[in-house]
Amino acid sequence: METSFVIAKFGGTSVADYSAMVNSANIVIANPNVKVVVLSASAGVTNLLVALAEGRNADVRAQHIAKIQAIQYNILEQLPENPQLRADLDQIIANIASLSEAASLATSPALTDELVSHGEIMSSKLFVEILKEKQKNAIWFDVRKVMRTDDTFGKAIPKIEEIKQLCCAHLKSLNNKQLIVTQGFIGSESTGKTTTLGRGGSDYTAALLGEALNADQIDIWTDVAGIYTTDPRITPAAKRIDEISFAEAAEMATFGAKVLHPATLVPAVRSNIPVFVGSSKAPQAGGTIVYNTNSITSELPAFRALTLRRKQTLLTLTSLNMLYAQGFLANVFTILAEHNISVDLVTTSEVSIALTIDTTGTNTNGSSLLTKALFDELSKVCHVEVQEDLALVAIIGNNLTTTKGVAKDVFGALDEFCIRLCCYGASSHNACFLVKNSDADAIIKLLHHNIFEK
Ligand code: ADP
Ligand code: ASP
Ligand code: MG
Repeated sequence: METSFVIAKFGGTSVADYSAMVNSANIVIANPNVKVVVLSASAGVTNLLVALAEGRNADVRAQHIAKIQAIQYNILEQLPENPQLRADLDQIIANIASLSEAASLATSPALTDELVSHGEIMSSKLFVEILKEKQKNAIWFDVRKVMRTDDTFGKAIPKIEEIKQLCCAHLKSLNNKQLIVTQGFIGSESTGKTTTLGRGGSDYTAALLGEALNADQIDIWTDVAGIYTTDPRITPAAKRIDEISFAEAAEMATFGAKVLHPATLVPAVRSNIPVFVGSSKAPQAGGTIVYNTNSITSELPAFRALTLRRKQTLLTLTSLNMLYAQGFLANVFTILAEHNISVDLVTTSEVSIALTIDTTGTNTNGSSLLTKALFDELSKVCHVEVQEDLALVAIIGNNLTTTKGVAKDVFGALDEFCIRLCCYGASSHNACFLVKNSDADAIIKLLHHNIFEK
């Protein structure tokens, strides 16, 4: 029988320092089915690189580079002396310094991607040596050879068919006995320039490679032992969900559960590859398995989880011309599309539309989408009101639109709070509403208590 093939991805905290890398290496070594490892940058490094790409003065640049150096050389120092690896890291730090100097003169999304890609390059080089120290036959592989994307720097779109072909050409021929260690998050466009898939994109890389290489499972190792009923940082009462359907988990990721990048499940669903989520610090604690609804052994509950997405912006567009008129909505959405704004929630009244825009921005170069040009154009057709500092709370579940009493269970508990907008009915997996950011944690705690703790 053919052995199964697992791709394992380790996030930033799982490669944050030497001991985290050793824990992660032990997980890889314990499972001979792991054939490909995808790594994030060590925790904190991408943020420092993004800051450098924003164009800093020489003093700030030097401080940021020193911090990056400290994180990576701390790991290096705990390995037996390795002149080649030290020379590689010295070269990478020199590249970071010269690219960040260039960014201080002129920033660009392409330069940002080139600069931030060094985080994943460094962590993966160090991880290979840790595996080798443990007698594991591992090789470093530059994922940019196979992760072909378009040239939307900062949030590049992967080219699925090309990735499959490139994986066939470069990875399938590699010696099966060697473990491949590669980078998440980064890719390259057709002329070879480095791109990134957007913040948190390493999960997505693992799923894309899993699909291209026909993996049997994708393991996402992080700092929590699975997917919980809500972010355990908000309430310690959050409970682990042992198994969950693709549809529920995808909805959770889209609506703010940071544990999975929102796009991760797209390739997994398309190719029906189960995804496991566990903690690299406590692999023995088990985790969550995400798969097809048919595989779920327990009953799908009406309420599965609560998610929270901060930094939401509400636009209220009012026009008397909307009364009995046709085409106003089409007009507004055309303008928004022309400015690359993707609208999240929409509600309409007789003369106004309220819509939300997610400004958490997974774009690597965090540029604001809400530009003056957009407002100028919208103002030609309507009055525009902007409200910021809002948060979106979502209830994720099953058959929500055909289950009695959902509204009472949710809204009945919230009489102390103001709800600014609410969307219910578009999906049977989700009901969500917008609240003041400062109320969001209390609302999640209260709803969690009422729904999951009784
Ligand atoms: P990594 O660096 O490994 O990719 P992330 O920080 O991106 O890790 O994701 C893990 C974090 O996701 C957890 O520390 C947790 O705070 C957060 N999180 C948000 N919602 C959930 C949830 N429903 N279940 C588990 N973790 C969640
Ligand atoms: N290192 C990248 C980030 O911090 C990608 C990832 O960790 O998934 O966004
Ligand atoms: Mg992540």
